Amino acid sequence: MPSYQEARAIVIEKCRALGRAPATEILGLNDALGRVLAQEIRADRDYPPFDRAARDGFAVRSADCRSAGVSLRIIGEVAAGAGFAGRVGAGECAQIMTGAPVPENADAVVMIEQTHAGAAKDEVVIERAATAGMNFVPRGSESRKGDVLLKAAARIGAAEASVAAQVGCTHLMVYRKPRVAILSTGNEVVEIGAEPGPHEIRNSNSFSLGVQAVFAGAEAVPLGNAPDSSEEIRASVLRGLQEDALVISGGVSAGKYDLVEPVLRELGAEFVFDSVEIRPGRPAVFAVCRKKPVFGLPGNPVSTMVTFDLLVTPALDILGGAEPRPLPLLKAKLKGAVEQRAALTHFLPARIEWSGGEAIVSALQWQGSGDVVTVARGNCFLVVPQNKLKLNAGELVDVLPRSGIV
Ligand code: AMP
Ligand code: MG
Repeated sequence: MPSYQEARAIVIEKCRALGRAPATEILGLNDALGRVLAQEIRADRDYPPFDRAARDGFAVRSADCRSAGVSLRIIGEVAAGAGFAGRVGAGECAQIMTGAPVPENADAVVMIEQTHAGAAKDEVVIERAATAGMNFVPRGSESRKGDVLLKAAARIGAAEASVAAQVGCTHLMVYRKPRVAILSTGNEVVEIGAEPGPHEIRNSNSFSLGVQAVFAGAEAVPLGNAPDSSEEIRASVLRGLQEDALVISGGVSAGKYDLVEPVLRELGAEFVFDSVEIRPGRPAVFAVCRKKPVFGLPGNPVSTMVTFDLLVTPALDILGGAEPRPLPLLKAKLKGAVEQRAALTHFLPARIEWSGGEAIVSALQWQGSGDVVTVARGNCFLVVPQNKLKLNAGELVDVLPRSGIV
């Protein structure tokens, strides 16, 4: 049985081996948030395009300001967006604003806070010695024309959008979002608008999985629920195999009505693993069926949720043309001791808080893998590693934040 780290590595390797290059599309920059670049973005000119003042103040020749207290004659003003035609000669300076081009023969900017008015109206006293290069960013020092600023496979966040905008990319070629079919199974499951019978439950998994798919950058294709019948599951699985990936909740444990594995086997699936050393989520199945990755996640809502984050997200990254993102584990100080018995890595609902510059995490009392209400009360999962099932108060421990919440 693989550890969750091994299981992730196996998923990544298998999905890479499928070798399917996602289709591309062209989007306006505003619509590209979270999308994966299918092209490089290069600098259209040097950045900064000119020697750019980093402070409001005075552009000076450092040779004139070797010592503090020099008085210089102000010969003009350079505002952002404007050029400066004149020359700064010996004993002269120009008033300059942040973002304006430093005049050619000046070589330093002195902050306005380090100057005061001189005796004459056009005079300023420089209160400190200036050194060449002070307070401006030289042309081309951030990047040179033609440099690759964003590589293909980069995901568009705020900084990437800013870079694309800076070089004038109004439109980007990105990969299409991977489409992930989401199927729940179970005779006890009814759709959420329906009134459940006394022993029935509403299909919450399809909705948590839908949210997780979106956070993973994919498009969720909801297939509803299939009752525990081989025929019905087969029909829904065949429908799901038309998408880029299929995620099934429920029906993968050892019960008499857990029919997902037999149906997949009958359809010729290759089972890559059928359990992972974790709790919740141990019976999680990963198979490849008709060249599509298929995940069978145990149906208890917290099991479904944890196994999606651990196993499905990296697959969707690859199917979407991105590098699989690392699991974003944080370190936090544990508030109260925690002990587990089963030799499995546990993911326990928990709450992380930052106080006095320190991350502190507390495990929440819960009723096990059906108790999604407690998960919603927290904001993360505390990771109790399989080889260290007792965690003491005050220890630094691993925390898996919930996507979009922390
Ligand atoms: P299973 O993995 O099929 O044995 O399901 C385990 C438990 O998860 C069931 O007894 C249900 O309580 C719950 N469950 C299964 N499917 C869903 C679903 N779609 N939404 C919410 N809970 C579910
Ligand atoms: Mg079931």
